Formats: sequence, C-alpha cells, structure tokens
Amino acid sequence: MTDSQDNRIAERRQAMAALLRKRGIRSQSVLDAMERVPRHAFVPGHLAELAYEDGALPIGEGQTISQPYIVALMTEAAGIDKKSRVLEIGTGSGYSTAILSAVAGEVYSVERHEALAEAARQRLEASGFAGNVSIRVGDGTLGWPDKAPFDAIIVAAAGPRIPDALQAQLAVGGKLVMPVGAAAGAQALTRVVRDAADDFRNEALAQVSFVPLIGAQGWQR
Ligand code: SAH
Repeated sequence: MTDSQDNRIAERRQAMAALLRKRGIRSQSVLDAMERVPRHAFVPGHLAELAYEDGALPIGEGQTISQPYIVALMTEAAGIDKKSRVLEIGTGSGYSTAILSAVAGEVYSVERHEALAEAARQRLEASGFAGNVSIRVGDGTLGWPDKAPFDAIIVAAAGPRIPDALQAQLAVGGKLVMPVGAAAGAQALTRVVRDAADDFRNEALAQVSFVPLIGAQGWQR
C-alpha cells in the first residue's frame, strides 16, 4: 500500500469514528479503538472499499462482520477497561475481537466455525492485535469455564435467551451484552449486570439484527 492510500484509509477511519461519536458513542477508549483498528483488513478483499461504511458485510460461511456502530455500542455498554478480562462469543472476522483487544486487558473469543477462527487468528496477528487474545473453536453458548470469571461477556450472535452458562461465568459487578430474540429479523440488544452473586439486572439497549447463535444453549441450527 502506498503512503497516500494509507493516509486516505486513516482519514476514512477518523470520519467513521466522528460519525460514531455523533451517533452517541461517548467512551474515548472505544472511539480510539475504532479509529485504530484497520477494518478493511477484516473483510474480504473485494469489499475493502466498503469497510468504513457503517454497515454489516458478508465474511463467508453465511456469517457477517458486525456494523461498526453496533460493535462500538456493545463494547461501550460492557464497561470494559484495560483491567478487564473479556469473553467474546462469535469471533467471526476477528474485527470486534481486535476492538476488544485495544480496550481490554485479556480477550477470550470462541467461534464455532473452524475456518473463520483460523482466518481471524491470522488477521489479528497481521494487524498487531493478537497479543492479548486467545481464540478457541467450540460452542460459545457454554462459555469458556477454565478462564472464568469474566468482567465482561459480549455475544455477537442472537439467541432465544441469555445462556445460563454465560451468566454463571460473569464476575460479580460484570456486564454481559447480547442480542435476544428471534433467529432472524429484529432482536433486543440486552445488557445483563450481575449486581451480586444471585442478582442479575436486565435492560434493553437497542433493536438489532444479528445472525443466530447456534449451540446447546442457543438455537438448534
Ligand atoms: N463479531 C464478529 C461478527 C460475528 S457474526 C465480527 O466482528 O466479525 C457471529 C458469529 O458467531 C459467526 O461467526 C458465527 O459462526 C458465530 N457463532 C454462532 N453461534 C456460535 C456459538 N454457539 N459459539 C461460537 N460462535 C458462534
């Protein structure tokens, strides 16, 4: 890539971050991460031109890279900082994983499609966001018990309900953000705050449209 191409891409990312701020994203660390992570490196080559439009894009295996605004909203809502241990379900392209890598301490991400997990690992490595990230192939509705508890859990696919396994792996004071509702169409982006060991508070944040969460505590494909 030439220097002038690099500059043009950096400008488009700045414009994207400015738009996210206008739409209500307030966390400076999230806005900084959105400005730093090269989203074009996480989409298929022929779609790179569209990487800084605020939309979802196909990434193969019938899956999509999430819309930048929604990635920013979920990351902000989960209240993550550099001390946070974060669990992500649905690595997909690895883009949101890179955003989490930039704002969190440690990131654990689970993806059910082996090919997507492998491609995400390579993109994270190539773009310099792999250092604090571990990716596992498996059913994320069961979480990652060995690494629990987590200060934040972000689920990037829509399930019929909040999986019990994920609630159990949330630290007291921790926040889980996940779309809940029908497998296709609109779902409610839901935040669960664990106020005490047996006290979970739910709130709806926005209407969203995600691909289905498929697994033991999700949809049965
Ligand atoms: N955050 C991703 C978007 C991923 S789309 C990005 O920025 O690119 C949702 C992803 O969840 C898909 O890759 C899908 O394969 C994955 N997924 C669905 N059900 C899952 C499950 N039970 N465990 C892990 N991953 C799952």
